[in-house]
Amino acid sequence: MVNKIVRLENVIFSYDKTTPFIENLSFCIDKGTYTCILGSNGSGKTTVAKLIGGLLNTDRGDVFIDGILLNHSSMQEIRDYIGVIFQNPDNQYVATTLKEDIIFGLENHNINSELMDDIVDRVSRECDVFDLLNKDPSSMSGGEKQKGAIAGVLAMNPKVLILDESSSMLDPVSKKELLYLIHKLKEEKGLTVISITHDANEILLSDKIIVLDNGKMVFEGNKEQFYNTDVASYNIELPKIMQLEKGLGYSKYIGEEEFFKSVGEEYEN
Ligand code: ADP
Repeated sequence: MVNKIVRLENVIFSYDKTTPFIENLSFCIDKGTYTCILGSNGSGKTTVAKLIGGLLNTDRGDVFIDGILLNHSSMQEIRDYIGVIFQNPDNQYVATTLKEDIIFGLENHNINSELMDDIVDRVSRECDVFDLLNKDPSSMSGGEKQKGAIAGVLAMNPKVLILDESSSMLDPVSKKELLYLIHKLKEEKGLTVISITHDANEILLSDKIIVLDNGKMVFEGNKEQFYNTDVASYNIELPKIMQLEKGLGYSKYIGEEEFFKSVGEEYEN
């Protein structure tokens, strides 16, 4: 079993095939972990996600998914390993009910039709959208649409779930619900999650944080390392809890639970 489910080695990529935007990018992502990719607009987050998802080809350098080199002949197989959820929930549906939409995806992947009802049942329960299966996606809330889209992607049994700003158009409650669902899928199904985000609070859910700036990786590490790195110059906010700890002079990040234990409840909320 390959533990490094995503591996980029010296990746070079340019949109115009002359001036590299991504130069010599290398990093690995462990199976079953949650990685968030941060950076200001135009820093290359979506480009990197597309390189991982096989939606863009490198100019040079290699991308491996679960140990398999991503190239022309492995593309189809590897695409099935990766599910992508985009920012705008309205762009992810083609059918007139959620159930039909999930089935449409299964048909495109040539899944045996006798298995489809069971798969729809399972993924809709996992994503808490079972009661919405007969609803028209256009009548669902933003949060419901994103959870439904995740159910559709899960039906393909991906190993990696890429979320491209997928909670950014949601209200705070739906955003929280979506993050809870993704975290649960990671914990319970061992799914590897890569989340492109502007939401600093996702750092708290992450095993690994990658910061991009103008096509370069300027930070790679865990929460504790992130806490002790000056990322303000890349226009990235620290999560509130980290701001509180820094404000009180903690030299290292001790986590939310420990923090509230040590300062008392007056700081909560
Ligand atoms: P982010 O997701 O961090 O906002 P992107 O990866 O979307 O950044 O974009 C990185 C850079 O690549 C930007 O300068 C952007 O203008 C450029 N870019 C993105 N998509 C294309 C494209 N299809 N053609 C040419 N340039 C592009």
